[in-house]
Amino acid sequence: MERLVRSCYKKKSGYVFAKKAEDIAREYGMTRIARLASNENPEPLSPAALEAAEAALKTVNRYPDERVNVLMNALRATYGDFHFVTGVGMDGVIETIIRTLVEPGEKVAISTPTFSFYALAAMGQGAEVVTIPREADFSADPKRLVNAAKDAKITVLCSPNNPTGNATPIPVVEEILEGIEGLLFLDNAYVEFSGIDYLPLMKKHENLVLGRTMSKVHSLAGLRIGYAFTPRWLPPWYQRAGTPFTVNAVSMAAAAAALGDTAHAERYRAQVKRWRTRFTDEVKYPVLPSDANFVMIDVAPHRSDEMVEELARKGVVVRSCRSFAGLEDHYIRVSVGEDWENELFVKVINTL
Ligand SMILES: *Cc1c(COP(=O)(O)O)cnc(C)c1O
Repeated sequence: MERLVRSCYKKKSGYVFAKKAEDIAREYGMTRIARLASNENPEPLSPAALEAAEAALKTVNRYPDERVNVLMNALRATYGDFHFVTGVGMDGVIETIIRTLVEPGEKVAISTPTFSFYALAAMGQGAEVVTIPREADFSADPKRLVNAAKDAKITVLCSPNNPTGNATPIPVVEEILEGIEGLLFLDNAYVEFSGIDYLPLMKKHENLVLGRTMSKVHSLAGLRIGYAFTPRWLPPWYQRAGTPFTVNAVSMAAAAAALGDTAHAERYRAQVKRWRTRFTDEVKYPVLPSDANFVMIDVAPHRSDEMVEELARKGVVVRSCRSFAGLEDHYIRVSVGEDWENELFVKVINTL
């Protein structure tokens, strides 16, 4: 019966997940694994978020609020008077925005190497995917981008970029916004670690969406909740294109409470700042400059997968960058975890 499956899914491989710490622990008989592969905040969720989630769990016999009021109010209290959409992770937001705007055959332009889900979501919508390689230092050249993406319905730029870690400066983003005819989806999954504030651009540009997630600094990856700042015109159409209930009741409540716990986010941001410097100073391989909560490391002459395997053997799980199209095969991506995890990583990689 597999003949029924769409050919686009048969031609391309799907999302590549990081190795699971549990699998590695079993394979090598280890009890304690440093999990540095998925860019999560290692600290458990905020107690306020846990309490809100527990209370919401008692209401789940009823459908959630389709207007997502609790979360919308928390977003406005945190950021001010902007327009927002929400979804099942930022991944869900990306998928719905593509569904809202892109007809089959229209272009989605993506600055690469980067997060792979954009291309998968665009492909699923029947879009033509155009990739625009970054420069040798992984910066995005605005002229090249605009040239290739001029007539694209959506252009996707990740800043800070996963997996390279660098952010795109505001003037470059503005040049892109002014040059393209379509919408710019600026993926800000890691912006909380960067010190760059793209929000003022929202007031000036009608074709900008800033994608955000509760999965990283806010410790809510397991609840699958994302949102985006959008221009005023987009939310009613997004709601038409999306599933009727964009966010479940438990996730909504937890996310709203988590946004209010600024001390929680601040602790991890401080940890990230400390360890980006320490990784750079202490790892014997070149560590690329990062504005995110991870660093990309050039492990040449080793291959990505080989290095990941060697580290796993010693109890450290990091991400191989082999699956990021457009990147040479000698990089790994390492998240900032707890002190003991980061210390173990430094110790082990320096023996390899
Ligand atoms: C983690 C991540 C996301 C967000 O993922 P969700 O968990 O779906 O919110 C989005 N973009 C990038 C680049 C990421 O690394």
